[in-house]
Amino acid sequence: MMRPTVVAILMSVIFPMLALAQTTDELKNDERTPDDVLTYGMGYGQQRFSPLTRINRNNVKRLVPAWSYSMSDNRGQEAQPLLKDGILYLTDHEKTVALDALSGKAIWKSMIEYPPDTTRVVCCGIVNRGGALFDGKLYRTILDAHVIALDIKTGKEVWRTKSADPKDGYSMTVAPLVASGVVIAGVAGAEFGHRGYLEGLDPQTGKQLWRTYTIPAPGEPGAETWPGDAGSHGGGSTWITGSYDPDLDLVFWGTGNPAPWNPVNRKGDNLYTNSILAFQPKTGKVVWHYQMTPNDPFDYDGVNELVQAELTIDGTLRKVVMQANRNGFLYVLERATGKLLAANKFVKVNWAERIDLATGRPVWTEVTKAALEGKSVQVWPHLTGGKNWHPMSYSPISKLIYLNTTSFGWDYQPLPSEEVANLKPGQPHYGIKRPFVYIFDDPDGRGHLRALDPVTGRSKWAVPFKSPNFSGTLVTAGGLVFTGRLTGEFMAVDADTGKTLWEFQTSAGIVGQPITWERDGKQYVTITNGATGPYVMRSGDPNLANVPAGGSVWTFKLFEEYSGPQRATSGN
Ligand code: CA
Ligand code: CA
Repeated sequence: MMRPTVVAILMSVIFPMLALAQTTDELKNDERTPDDVLTYGMGYGQQRFSPLTRINRNNVKRLVPAWSYSMSDNRGQEAQPLLKDGILYLTDHEKTVALDALSGKAIWKSMIEYPPDTTRVVCCGIVNRGGALFDGKLYRTILDAHVIALDIKTGKEVWRTKSADPKDGYSMTVAPLVASGVVIAGVAGAEFGHRGYLEGLDPQTGKQLWRTYTIPAPGEPGAETWPGDAGSHGGGSTWITGSYDPDLDLVFWGTGNPAPWNPVNRKGDNLYTNSILAFQPKTGKVVWHYQMTPNDPFDYDGVNELVQAELTIDGTLRKVVMQANRNGFLYVLERATGKLLAANKFVKVNWAERIDLATGRPVWTEVTKAALEGKSVQVWPHLTGGKNWHPMSYSPISKLIYLNTTSFGWDYQPLPSEEVANLKPGQPHYGIKRPFVYIFDDPDGRGHLRALDPVTGRSKWAVPFKSPNFSGTLVTAGGLVFTGRLTGEFMAVDADTGKTLWEFQTSAGIVGQPITWERDGKQYVTITNGATGPYVMRSGDPNLANVPAGGSVWTFKLFEEYSGPQRATSGN
């Protein structure tokens, strides 16, 4: 029998190691443990719903900043913060930081270097969307298509894996997903003619366990949907983190647009672009797929987040996965099979009449038929989408989705075939004259914050904004929806009515992802600010002319009497 002192010494060594190590069970339970935020989406199902009620409709007006920490960078801050054992972890394109969650004081900061010319293959903002925590490490991607693991205690790099080469059009901004003990990451680059894929890595070593391309090789099923070798540089990015159902052991991950945008030289469905893939995390084997936008001419990336819920549809309780697609339709599918259960418009759409539930295919309007013949058309929604990448939330209490939508169209003018025929990977793959042109029909409502019924697509309420919001939403059992604006306001609205209950002017535009958490019996809300993206850079929105750059992370709590450090007075 070991002497007590030996046991004590061993426990003092082992216990902190156990405290650091995230287990598969902790990740599975994340949505039910409000004292930490271990996953992208605040739970494997990505509902971004919190059961916390300490901050609620009645007292949210007392919300004040607890602290703010400067990210010392003018790029956009899009990452979702993670929280474990009272320490907040945050990434941007050039660094990872660990902060004391109560005080905002830095614990460590780990800088990242990548070749400056990497930014040539980034279309839409030099950003990172967050990390993944597992087994004492933080996993994240780097813009130059590497995945790294950092020791969460020290910030020191444990391993580094090169996934692809930016000169071939690849970059990485995605927050990885750890599922079934595998680190899963995806790529950006359909705007530069890459061939998209998903990849599984060993969490201990970074060794590649599997790679699944989103576009089949010649001879594989689906290859017949591409003419010639068009698929070899056909896009299909995977730049938004998938969700995971541990009971089915399936990951759901959206794929991006075909390349180039102009479809003149890629007639066919272009599988598996603009699709949802359901795959096994241990092998990368695809179990089912569903394609939202076959032969897409409009850059309607199908990457948007895939939120899980249990919904009653036609009297039957279904386990579903839902996506508010850039193309303006809200899709509801059965998780186990990929069967399409509902697909309804949630914004103004003129490219398709409807989605045929029997075939799962869109019924094209004359607009899309003309575009596919190389004609110029005005199309709604804009390529930005009825909703862009910034995540929605879902409340199992109200059974509603809360999301920021956009209200603008696109003057789509395709270039002739010969001008898009010889694009090489690494070159911009648009094939469209003046690709980023925005058409507004209501300057008082360029975007809306909405509460939607996912089964019908109908809005329970919709609040217009002069500039659209590109921030994620968070919904709580306290009856609040949190989101941020491009003009810097962080706000809380009543989940039942959309009425603004509280607003705080931060120091820069917001394109981040709010989280909430509790510590020592108190509830906190955290958001990043610092805005970027095609709309910010190219829309010419007059409301954004004087919004400062400069990213920070902000944490809010309910006002209480001052209890900070007491300074000695000087005596005079
Ligand atoms: Ca948790
Ligand atoms: Ca795209």
